Amino acid sequence: MSNKKILIWYRNDLRIHDHEPLYQAIKQGALVIPFYCFDIRQFNTTSFGFPKTGNFRGKFLLESVANLKNSLQELASNLIIRKGYPEKIIPELVKQLEINEVYYYEEVTSEEINVEDAVEKALKPLKVKFKGFWGATLYHWDDLPFEVSQLPEVFTSFRKKVEKNSTVNPTFISPRKLISLPDVELGYIPSLEDLGLEKPEYDSKGVLEFKGGETEGIKRLKEYFWQGNHLKEYKETKNGMLGADYSSKFSAWLANGCLSPRYIYEEVQKYEEKRVRNNSTYWLIFELLWRDYFRFIGAKHGNKVFYESGLRGVDIPWKEDLERFKLWQEGNTGYPLVDANMRELATTGFMSNRGRQNVASFLTKNLGINWIMGAEWFESLLIDYDVCSNYGNWNYTAGVGNDARGFRYFNIPKQSKDYDAKGEYIKHWLPELKMIPGQKIHEPWKLSQEEQKRYNVRIGVDYPRPVVDFFKSVKASEKVYDKANI
Ligand SMILES: Cc1cc2nc3c(=O)[nH]c(=O)nc-3n(C[C@H](O)[C@H](O)[C@H](O)COP(=O)(O)OP(=O)(O)OC[C@H]3O[C@@H](n4cnc5c(N)ncnc54)[C@H](O)[C@@H]3O)c2cc1C
Repeated sequence: MSNKKILIWYRNDLRIHDHEPLYQAIKQGALVIPFYCFDIRQFNTTSFGFPKTGNFRGKFLLESVANLKNSLQELASNLIIRKGYPEKIIPELVKQLEINEVYYYEEVTSEEINVEDAVEKALKPLKVKFKGFWGATLYHWDDLPFEVSQLPEVFTSFRKKVEKNSTVNPTFISPRKLISLPDVELGYIPSLEDLGLEKPEYDSKGVLEFKGGETEGIKRLKEYFWQGNHLKEYKETKNGMLGADYSSKFSAWLANGCLSPRYIYEEVQKYEEKRVRNNSTYWLIFELLWRDYFRFIGAKHGNKVFYESGLRGVDIPWKEDLERFKLWQEGNTGYPLVDANMRELATTGFMSNRGRQNVASFLTKNLGINWIMGAEWFESLLIDYDVCSNYGNWNYTAGVGNDARGFRYFNIPKQSKDYDAKGEYIKHWLPELKMIPGQKIHEPWKLSQEEQKRYNVRIGVDYPRPVVDFFKSVKASEKVYDKANI
């Protein structure tokens, strides 16, 4: 044991497994001091006035921090918890506990980097080492076959280069025991109320009862891979919208760092050895590569990912039509696929990838509404909100991202028929349409008066008429897009 004391500043890395800062600190024989700060800026509002962290994510975060504290206690240590500004609290702890070094995982976007910079500045006079680690991605930044400034602008090119030239590092060994903390006020986990939030009601219609924390994340992986044996069919089911097992649902645990992508990678390898290796097992890694890609893109392009004009700097005159935006938010657009998904999001904090693509396309390509409003609504509600994945995907869908290939939109009625042929998903979330037979549910505005009577639904009364004509609105947006792209 050395005399060194190292503070581990936990952020979106709420786990013990595969945690390099923890591993490196222990390797030096240091006394590890785990610390988490509820940064009150994360509970402000977004530019369009939504809570930055909504109830669903707030609850998941509290559970994740509680689980981390528990795990650290089991290792004979503990978690110091504060609420406030890390740049004020960390230097105080450093002085009080005579800490020598501060380790943390680096982020790539401006709000997070600003906090890192502020902590670094505040620590400078104290002459302690402030060391950042890279760890949120499958592939390590240092192992990329190019400088981040040279990151390909097209995902496929990124993927091929990385798959050919880089390898995924093994996970770091988890500690078995830690040294107990010195005498210090531990602080407590705030309540949702303390953070200005409310307890979200769990609705059994949701895909899964998401519970935060590393233990629950690992449990979900075991269920999805090993007990349910769902990985072998992931590629065939991943475009589903209904139920727990059409996709992994790892995203919320990944976003909070409760699951490490490298741990998932190793479990996929084990699954391939013990069960089956097929397109599906590869495809889960393929999707994790999208996640990596958006993070590296965030690092490369900085704040551009947050600009209305996006990564490509296209000045599209977006509308800020609050009335129509509200229809979208509340799931009252008259397009059942969009409405079902938006109601799922508002009720549970989750939406499938298929759903996200469709509703984002509808907002931007049919309603012509500023994609930032949509991205901020997602930021507020999504239990799995991840700054790079969210803003990166929105850039992409809005047509302002790096990989845009001309004006593209989702044909919502067609998507509805293709991915919800029997209308089961729509009926799950829109009970007012439950008597309409599957093939007719996708375009309820086409029902005759007689059919409406038969199916017990009055279009325009029980369920809204479409807010816009689908193809006319797409054409109008295309014109605006083409003009902006000249
Ligand atoms: C407009 C829009 C906004 C989005 N916002 C977020 C967000 O804030 N946070 C988030 O984690 N994902 C976001 N996604 C990506 C994707 O929809 C979710 O990761 C996925 O639906 C989560 O479900 P899952 O864990 O079951 O995914 P699975 O299909 O099981 O995929 C496994 C993992 O791969 C990663 N992944 C899959 N697809 C993508 C993708 N397109 N981009 C980045 N990573 C991906 C996720 O980490 C996911 O957990 C967004 C997509 C769109 C179109």
